[in-house]
Amino acid sequence: MDPARYFDNASTTRVDPLVWREMEPYFGEACGNANSIHQWGQRAAAGVAKARERVAEALGCSAEQVFWTSGATESNNWILRSFESVAVSPFEHSSVWETAHVLGHSLLGNDGHSLLPPDGACELVSVMVVNNETGAMLALPRTSARVHRDATQALGKVPLSLEGVDFASFSAHKLHGPKGVGGLFAADPTFLRPLMTGGGQEHGLRAGTVNVPGVVGLGAACVLAMERREEALSHVQRLRETVLDGLAKVPDCRINEGPANSPYILSVSLLGLHGESLVLYCDQSGFAVSSGAACASGSTEPSHVLTSLGIPESVARATIRVSFSIENTIETAQGLARTLAEGAEELRRLGP
Ligand code: PMP
Repeated sequence: MDPARYFDNASTTRVDPLVWREMEPYFGEACGNANSIHQWGQRAAAGVAKARERVAEALGCSAEQVFWTSGATESNNWILRSFESVAVSPFEHSSVWETAHVLGHSLLGNDGHSLLPPDGACELVSVMVVNNETGAMLALPRTSARVHRDATQALGKVPLSLEGVDFASFSAHKLHGPKGVGGLFAADPTFLRPLMTGGGQEHGLRAGTVNVPGVVGLGAACVLAMERREEALSHVQRLRETVLDGLAKVPDCRINEGPANSPYILSVSLLGLHGESLVLYCDQSGFAVSSGAACASGSTEPSHVLTSLGIPESVARATIRVSFSIENTIETAQGLARTLAEGAEELRRLGP
């Protein structure tokens, strides 16, 4: 399979060979537990400490403010379970949205243009930086509450500032690092309630043996992403424009985007067809795209993000997401646009 034909990078990305090279020793000769006092343990602990410095550098914070998790889902759960009264935006990833629902937290209102300040007193407001379905970049409402931002689709991709941010979630596998590892930035860790208790790792806040190869991979992925962020950003901008140009003549094609949008994500509704049928059509031509968030695929419900944007159900169901990376090429973006146009024509001819 050709990585240049993989346009589902918001779901996950390929581990970069440079990242893999840094991780590999920690599966083998440097296999120690980072809590052990012997040489193997100390080598692992040094790898973990270096990774924490690297992640902190990418975030613009200090290493003591970075906590390891199994990914952004855990980070989001951790922070939402650390406060009693939380308000979240209606555009959040299911790991925030669903968790808020389970915990009885509230939703921020929106007037169609921006999010409204929380109703009444609330301890924490959670608003993502880049939406994972449309790429829309969200602004914070005015609030005196503490602020959590899910930065999973932003870190290493678009400029990210933690000014005024108390907590932020992120994940390695969105930036060419390994799956199953991520982190939580906490400006003041005393607010964090331990999600897991046991061995006292992470200052007693997140028990469990540290995934040493994983966090080393996350650190390496952050370095790589920050080194090539500008180059990657202008490359994905060109890729997105190429696909948009190729779709310009396709009838009944609607682009779902915010006033400010990450160029890494393109959400397109092709009215009169099912997004999933188009995903399968593209797959037969060797292209990977998705019909929504990967974690929600298999769901028969239309995306809550799209319906919260006021998009009718039939249009939400006709939506696909194209998400880019530095590994795609202009040629494959042109090929994808042709395939989408042909697929839309053929699927519409066949009818629903
Ligand atoms: N938040 C956002 C915005 C995401 O895009 C994702 C991944 N789809 C997550 C959270 C969950 O991340 P993870 O897979 O690391 O649990």
